[in-house]
Amino acid sequence: MSVPVNREECYGSGECAYRVPDVFTVVDDYGEVIPGRESTGEDPRAIAAAEACPSQTIKIAYPG
Ligand code: SF4
Repeated sequence: MSVPVNREECYGSGECAYRVPDVFTVVDDYGEVIPGRESTGEDPRAIAAAEACPSQTIKIAYPG
């Protein structure tokens, strides 16, 4: 499971980092997943942040 964030699509709103600061951060005005926290696709907070992302650039990815 992973929670990638596409920089080319990110609006830089910071909503993800505001909602789940232990998973997302904002670097150079782009939302990113904090290194080591990529495998958080099962976290309901990460799923909620993905659903709330205004650019829909957070993709919850599951293996297989
Ligand atoms: S909520 Fe979405 S648009 Fe906003 S910073 Fe995070 S990834 Fe980017």
